[in-house]
Amino acid sequence: MAASVLVSAEGISRRYDEMLVLDAIDLSIRDGEFVALLGPSGSGKSTLLRIVTGLMQPSSGLVRYRGVPVDGPCPHAAMVFQTFALYPWLTVLENVALGLKARGMPLRERRSRANRLIELIGLEGFEDAYPKELSGGMRQRVGFARALAVEPELLCMDEPFSALDFLTAENLRNELLDLWTERRIPTRSVLMVTHGVEEAVAMADRIVVLSRNPARVVADVAIGLPRPRNRKHAAFLALVDRIYKIVTEGADPATSPTGAPDHPAQARFAPLPQAAIGMLNGLLELVADRGGRDDLYHLGSELMLEVDDLLPVTEAAELVGLAVVREGDLCLTDLGRRYTDEGATGRKQIVAAQIRDLPLFAVIRRVLASKRDHTMRREFFVEISARELGEAQAEALVDAAVSWGRWAELFAYDHAAEEFYLPEDEADEEDGALEDPPAGEGLADTDGPPGGGEPRP
Ligand code: ADP
Ligand code: MG
Repeated sequence: MAASVLVSAEGISRRYDEMLVLDAIDLSIRDGEFVALLGPSGSGKSTLLRIVTGLMQPSSGLVRYRGVPVDGPCPHAAMVFQTFALYPWLTVLENVALGLKARGMPLRERRSRANRLIELIGLEGFEDAYPKELSGGMRQRVGFARALAVEPELLCMDEPFSALDFLTAENLRNELLDLWTERRIPTRSVLMVTHGVEEAVAMADRIVVLSRNPARVVADVAIGLPRPRNRKHAAFLALVDRIYKIVTEGADPATSPTGAPDHPAQARFAPLPQAAIGMLNGLLELVADRGGRDDLYHLGSELMLEVDDLLPVTEAAELVGLAVVREGDLCLTDLGRRYTDEGATGRKQIVAAQIRDLPLFAVIRRVLASKRDHTMRREFFVEISARELGEAQAEALVDAAVSWGRWAELFAYDHAAEEFYLPEDEADEEDGALEDPPAGEGLADTDGPPGGGEPRP
């Protein structure tokens, strides 16, 4: 019964500079299987997909295709991306035939193969159109036709439906599944990266869930539902709920409600709320109106948000101590309930007290307090964070520090000059405060005076 393994990734680790993105990942895809790879944004899904197809080398570990180690781009695999890079100066037919030329197929055969794929994928009549004349959905069809034209045994897809509107995406999903299950294409197995839980449950035989920072496999769930699947069936919904819980709880063990001294965070500066404050407020108010607890999956679907959009918000809520995630529900803490009852000033004070001692805020405040002009270039904080996080993440972290720190009035920031500063009236207080040891106050201590409650000019 056991089908043979088509492709296996064995002990795959990958670093970018100092940052470990993938940590000893094992993943194998059997012949005839559709596997969905699910995980939060930035977890390393695209990186793993590129490694599996041989487009990128792992830092350690090995990929085998039908047992043979892969060294360089795998000729049996093709990739579909979120938005397809079509050549604007080539027609639909020429774009579809492109990969065949690279494989040395004669012109006449290329044309007939491309024409067949164009018909199969519903692009008939558009052979001579240029990409700019096509809708987004039609362009993505060209992307599929181009990938399928090389008759890949393994079709890899990186969020292929996420740039399309709902109906277009749903049609294309179903058409692709029909082509594959009816064996109208020679593709044996599919590996699809997605951040949509429902999409994964609707399409895959098996869902592999990755955590983040670094990515590890946190779950591997078989989806035994017959096809075509009904998204309203109880069994479907139960699976969606179960996977949703895994994704939300397995998401980021390094960022737990209290900054978690017992799990050493990978980077000293990293735990910082990284969500938009307006979104956090909206979500908490909604949960408060529902008695302080609500199912994340329902919240997400009501707000038309994917896990990806919701996770940074729930993480921020946990980090600030306003809510916790339990069994897939977002639950307000006592502080969270008080927070939602407050107006803007009270909320700022609560957040200020909660975040002032998070590492990067503490460093920024200490530096500003001790400099005579109480001013410091943004670049300085980016550089100290970049030493452990890498440039791109450090920029994002400092952006988050700017928006949260300003909102909570821990410091001010001049966007034009790209400088942090303490306003004049504040700087004196901070000089005094410097004598107090900044560490050790603990995140749960909300009784102390919040940092700078006065509105800025
Ligand atoms: P996902 O597809 O799950 O969103 P990616 O594989 O694109 O994740 O990225 C994983 C992590 O690796 C992210 O933190 C990203 O910033 C980083 N990363 C991706 N590509 C590069 C690169 N070429 N150089 C440096 N860092 C990268
Ligand atoms: Mg990606």
